[in-house]
Amino acid sequence: MEEKQKEQMTGFEFRKEAEGLLEFIAKSPTAFHTVANAAAMLEAAGYCRLAESGRWALAAGNQYYVTRNGSSLIAFSIPRAEIGPFRLFCSHNDSPTFKVKVNAEMEAGKCYTKLNVEQYGGALRAPWFDRPLSLAGRVLVQNGSAIETRLVCVDRDLLMIPSVAIHMNRDANEGASYNVQNDMCPVFGDADAKDGLKKLIAQEAGAEEEQVLDMDLFLYNRQHGTFVGLNEEYLAAPRLDDLQCMYGSLRGFLEADAKSGIPVYCAFDNEETGSVSRQGAASTFLHDVLVRICAAFGGTQEDYLRAVAGSFLISGDNAHALHPNHPEKADPVNRPQMNQGVVVKYNANQKYTSDARSSAVLRMLCARAGVPCQSYTNRSDMAGGSTLGNISNTQVSLQAVDIGMPQLAMHSSYEMAGTRDTAYLAALAKEFFEAELIVTDEEIRIS
Ligand code: ZN
Repeated sequence: MEEKQKEQMTGFEFRKEAEGLLEFIAKSPTAFHTVANAAAMLEAAGYCRLAESGRWALAAGNQYYVTRNGSSLIAFSIPRAEIGPFRLFCSHNDSPTFKVKVNAEMEAGKCYTKLNVEQYGGALRAPWFDRPLSLAGRVLVQNGSAIETRLVCVDRDLLMIPSVAIHMNRDANEGASYNVQNDMCPVFGDADAKDGLKKLIAQEAGAEEEQVLDMDLFLYNRQHGTFVGLNEEYLAAPRLDDLQCMYGSLRGFLEADAKSGIPVYCAFDNEETGSVSRQGAASTFLHDVLVRICAAFGGTQEDYLRAVAGSFLISGDNAHALHPNHPEKADPVNRPQMNQGVVVKYNANQKYTSDARSSAVLRMLCARAGVPCQSYTNRSDMAGGSTLGNISNTQVSLQAVDIGMPQLAMHSSYEMAGTRDTAYLAALAKEFFEAELIVTDEEIRIS
């Protein structure tokens, strides 16, 4: 089928959505920045900000969002004054990286200043060597009696983690191992750079050095996203896991014209460290928001439980595409390909929430949206990863399906995905939020 025909079926342009994703990634070096940027997109579309500490007076026909810790976000709209069912699309907005430790500056060999870092999440370490890096995160600034949170992103090539030369490590190509404490500390400058970090960050935050009380700073890869392949059929960028799902589902959420139910969009921080935090998928954040939506319309506990029983969750986290040099790592049959659409992820041991029922719903939604659909399972002798669907189910137990977009080099500092797939995901999300969906234990109906 022609490219144009495929696009028309989905209602989203492949190239435009891919470029939008790369732009979003470029300005989102940390989970804090992803939330700020998603909030700006939501506000531009008429969504009102709620505070968890405020009183919620919700009205039908309106649209809202709320953040926790500035690093997780839940948005929802209320098409009609009714309590549920909820239609939820969740993804995560954190990525493996290195966090700058407190009192980070260290002297090295009497001629360098380097930064003491610890690993965040399951990063592939080798891809962080020998490339320009920089710092981003949030700074807590004292302003009179107030403590303000300011986001910072040092927008220049600032740091590098140099490899040991082959001449000094002849076994390097036989398989190297990297120790975070010994090998991963980036060079911040020469000996004179000592005491420069706080000054630099204060400047970036528009504050005096003495006002800076503390900071959460992470390394980020300076290399921008780009298109690769003879026909630019692939894109390469940092943090595709899971900003492709976060951005693609947000595009579908914003484009959807839902007539019933309550569409809910979620982006959770801390998936890469197991989701256990005040704002992660294992927290009460989602539960609290759903309970408050019910309460705002006079719903009882009974109403809440009935709404949840008829709700449906799509958990989006990227999936492994077939590797060009290592096809033996894939299941013999289920081998997702980039640009071939949404991947349903299965695991007998419930690492993924998908089962025949929930995947049947997903496949029907994909067909309605003109989106191709593939399947993923790990090889039976490989453990594979996990994600947030089954974790969020411990707080709010929902019928759910785990999906992702196919990608390569997952957890590298620079990853690879399909140019078409963001549009496919957006089209699925739009269809999901717009469809008349009845899913209970007794009945499944999509119209
Ligand atoms: Zn992920």
